[in-house]
Amino acid sequence: MKMQREKEMQLQEQPQEEVQEASKSSVRILKIFAVVLLWGALCGVALTLFPPQPRPPREPPPPEDPKYEITKDYIPVNPWSRPGKVLEQVEGVVIHYVGNPGSSAKGNRDYFAGLASGETGVYASSHFIVGLEGEVIQCIPLTEISHASNHRNGDTISIEVCHPDAAGQFSLFTYDSLIELTAWLCNVYELDPSEDVIRHYDVIGKRCPRYYVDHPEAWMQILADVEVRMEELTSGR
Ligand SMILES: [Zn+2]
Repeated sequence: MKMQREKEMQLQEQPQEEVQEASKSSVRILKIFAVVLLWGALCGVALTLFPPQPRPPREPPPPEDPKYEITKDYIPVNPWSRPGKVLEQVEGVVIHYVGNPGSSAKGNRDYFAGLASGETGVYASSHFIVGLEGEVIQCIPLTEISHASNHRNGDTISIEVCHPDAAGQFSLFTYDSLIELTAWLCNVYELDPSEDVIRHYDVIGKRCPRYYVDHPEAWMQILADVEVRMEELTSGR
């Protein structure tokens, strides 16, 4: 009889223990849940008070042993030609022609610098200008935007190219430097020339660079030459 009563007692007690155990584990889960919630809230507050700063872009080191003369001659920061705005990312390279036959890279650089007065009311500039002798002038750091390519100013690097006559075809020296410079930029920013190297024409339909809009096959040749040069540069040639 006694044994039977003890068994009954045990049977009666067991569910109570289970209930206690269950409520303990629910409390534990609730605690974990509360900690997770608190952690999430703290992270939210921290992100609101101290938002993560985007990594500032850096000027890449210049090409090693370039085949062209490259001069950094930055124009002063001003609203018209060097707004000083950060170029957050580089998704492409836009090629232009200066549209002023026979003008030099230095002449065009000084023209952009001269816009700073605001007297002409013209917004214009370019990161690079490739001259008639193949010389290259960099007017704007690659960490800032230029005023060259309309709505693509925010994610592209611009190259203005000098040309001897109104047709706008590039001279041999100019062409070689343009290919060299564009291939270097494509390697630095991991761009695919067949998609990411574009004409001003491809941005807004402007006839720029004129000869390479009028002669699409000549433009395709530029892209092909850039691709070949990229591979050569990568393999150290
Ligand atoms: Zn243009």
